[in-house]
Amino acid sequence: MIFQTIAALATPPLPSALAIIRLTGHDVFSIVEKMSDQAFQSITQKTMLFGRIKDGFDVIDQVVFLVFVAPQSFTGDHVVEIISHGSMVVVHQILELAFRFGARQAEPGEFSLRAYLNQKIDLVQAEAVHDMIQSATPEAKRLAIQSLEGKTSALLNPLRTKIADLLALMEVNIDYPEYEDIGQVSIEKTKQETLEMLDMIKPLISQAERNRYIHEGIKVAIVGRPNVGKSSLLNALLNQEKAIVTPFAGTTRDVVEASLNLEGLLVTLLDTAGIRDQAEAIETLGIEKSKLSIQQADLVLFVVEATQEMTKEDQPIYQLLKDKKHLIVYNKSDLVNQKDPNKLYISALQKDISSLKDAILRTFSIQPSITQQPSFYQSRHIGELKLIQEALTKAYEDANHLLTIDLIAASLQDAYFHTIALLGLTGSTDLASEIFSRFCVGK
Ligand code: GDP
Repeated sequence: MIFQTIAALATPPLPSALAIIRLTGHDVFSIVEKMSDQAFQSITQKTMLFGRIKDGFDVIDQVVFLVFVAPQSFTGDHVVEIISHGSMVVVHQILELAFRFGARQAEPGEFSLRAYLNQKIDLVQAEAVHDMIQSATPEAKRLAIQSLEGKTSALLNPLRTKIADLLALMEVNIDYPEYEDIGQVSIEKTKQETLEMLDMIKPLISQAERNRYIHEGIKVAIVGRPNVGKSSLLNALLNQEKAIVTPFAGTTRDVVEASLNLEGLLVTLLDTAGIRDQAEAIETLGIEKSKLSIQQADLVLFVVEATQEMTKEDQPIYQLLKDKKHLIVYNKSDLVNQKDPNKLYISALQKDISSLKDAILRTFSIQPSITQQPSFYQSRHIGELKLIQEALTKAYEDANHLLTIDLIAASLQDAYFHTIALLGLTGSTDLASEIFSRFCVGK
């Protein structure tokens, strides 16, 4: 495919020591040649050059050129990266020259899109480029780098091959019944194979659902009556975990959003400003505010006093959250002697909250080692994996009900197509050629 050359600043648009301007496209060498004192069109392998960017006789900057020759580049096209001095004046002049000679401004994510369109990377890898940049914790980054390296996509290969193998047999049975050297597909074999496929997809889904929380983080609301210790709990959580506290000025009242990294799980505490003054507001608009936090939360921490059972005043708040994922947290455990082993006790004041942290991690099935293996983690991935599971379940049920092979094959084809949709290979991977590459039918 021939693409117009695109150009963009790859580093932040701020004065700094150096800036990187990236260009890619089929005619990038001729464009960069026109704006510099170096020859590019004769370059045949990846090279680093020192030279000048020039507008006619006017020297714009002394720069380093990193030259990547297609297809050995990130995008699969020729790529030139210009490392200039990090002045925004220089950057704008270099980009203007590139645009004058035929490049255009790259859209967000367009370099990765080019890499995807040139089949240098699949869709899961392309998404991982963005995820790498956005990752807020080392664990989320670890998931992304494994995807970028293709390890996550590779998880699907054994299943995809297995589906294609069975489909191949079925198609040949349907279309070429006279071929005796090819085994018959019995209903028993179909059932057994589809069950094995279902066993393969199940862990992929459960791992993805867990790791989605590592990728996206979770929102947690702390609610409860005045004086039960919500602010103290908030402080205990933040103190111990070196919180990143970001005040956003400019709203009617300052909103404080606080996050902490809990063993790789990014926990964002909701409406912490609201929590701070909930004590005086709970009877008036406190309930409304709690409702909003509860709605948005992935987990609600319902704080009650360890010294009392849940009281009459706790009930209206409990009614708001009882259908959400929640933990009832008995605070002020330092004031009680007899503890019920089935309850979750903490002492926010004494910063004794490890049982709560463990309970949060358990609620989302997070263990320290989970990001060490590649895993799918995006909602889109989970959606496609579930469609594969659905199609395979249908194939199994159809086999169980003794439906005809061609009907079962239709469900398997559906499952197969979702494997390639997940990797974004639709259109480039032809099921027929994959099937017939296994047989010498028609020889
Ligand atoms: P909020 O109104 O729910 O935010 O409650 P605060 O965090 O302001 O706490 C109310 C009072 O309870 C304060 O005097 C705290 O010092 C006290 N408190 C909070 N947590 C504990 C605890 O774990 N043990 C004891 N003994 N007192 C606590």
